[in-house]
Amino acid sequence: MADSPAIILRDVVKRYRDKDGSQITAVDGLTLDVPAGVCLGLLGPNGAGKSTTMRMLTAQSRADEGEITVLGHPVPAESKEARALMGVVPQTDNLDEELTVRQNLEVFAHLYRVPRSGRRRAVERALEIAQLTGRARTRVVNLSGGMRRRLLVARGLVHSPRLVLLDEPTVGLDPQVRADLWGLIAALRDEGTTVLMSTHYIEEAERLADTCAVMSSGRIVAQGTPGDLIAHHAGDSVEEHHGPPDRLAEIETLVRRAGLPTRRTGPTVSVLRAERIPPSLADALGNGDRVVRRAASLEDVFVVLTGENVG
Ligand code: ADP
Repeated sequence: MADSPAIILRDVVKRYRDKDGSQITAVDGLTLDVPAGVCLGLLGPNGAGKSTTMRMLTAQSRADEGEITVLGHPVPAESKEARALMGVVPQTDNLDEELTVRQNLEVFAHLYRVPRSGRRRAVERALEIAQLTGRARTRVVNLSGGMRRRLLVARGLVHSPRLVLLDEPTVGLDPQVRADLWGLIAALRDEGTTVLMSTHYIEEAERLADTCAVMSSGRIVAQGTPGDLIAHHAGDSVEEHHGPPDRLAEIETLVRRAGLPTRRTGPTVSVLRAERIPPSLADALGNGDRVVRRAASLEDVFVVLTGENVG
């Protein structure tokens, strides 16, 4: 029998009241399964509802409607049991700066009720994962930014959770630190830990996620492997047309009339599913220096589905 999903969300709704009293629906009927043993990338632009979803999974926030089950436990009713089984890596660094690296891990091993007999081993393992064994006695205040982030991840893993939640794990990090963390997340995934990672970085999802759920305006608008999503929503190839605004508008009209999706980025109109451009349209669109063909990407899918360009 296949394992039941690690996370089940059914018709989940979360509304907030804004400062001026108006209502915002941050999560709007979200239904999603995270299968056991996969790394699922929850991919969406800012404001899509990713963090709100993460907060509901840890019961930091309560859904107004719908059902949430984490590792077999209904949340929030059994959130304590669920929390004990999962690792949570917060977006903001809340390490205890006065304590050493090892002490930070020991505190969490205790909080997560790792049995006393296994605590030392658990801390050593977390140090190895974060490649901080040589820094175990260093106080956090003396660590580099990259080391702190690795420790923050390791701290969430100290009790060997079956499920790890990572909320925008590399937002605002420099490329070197980001690459380090990607290695760490990939190692977790390869060990068979279930990972739910929210991100608005396409490259992050492309590199790490076995499957992606694209979120927009509080809902899942598409789900699949990056390859499936590209094939389904953007086709094989994209034709980029460069030119002055009036010519670009003309191209958009012609292409849309032929039923093909387009996206506009500055002085470029990209025609998706370019392999389907009929010969008559190809003549009207022209070719030469101002036309470039390339393979379709997950970024094209993101733009088509969420209407957002990623910078
Ligand atoms: P994401 O993580 O995808 O960027 P969020 O879940 O943070 O999205 O936000 C979704 C929507 O809910 C946004 O419009 C945001 O402004 C709103 N929102 C999030 N948290 C609160 C809150 N505590 N109070 C009011 N509105 C909120």
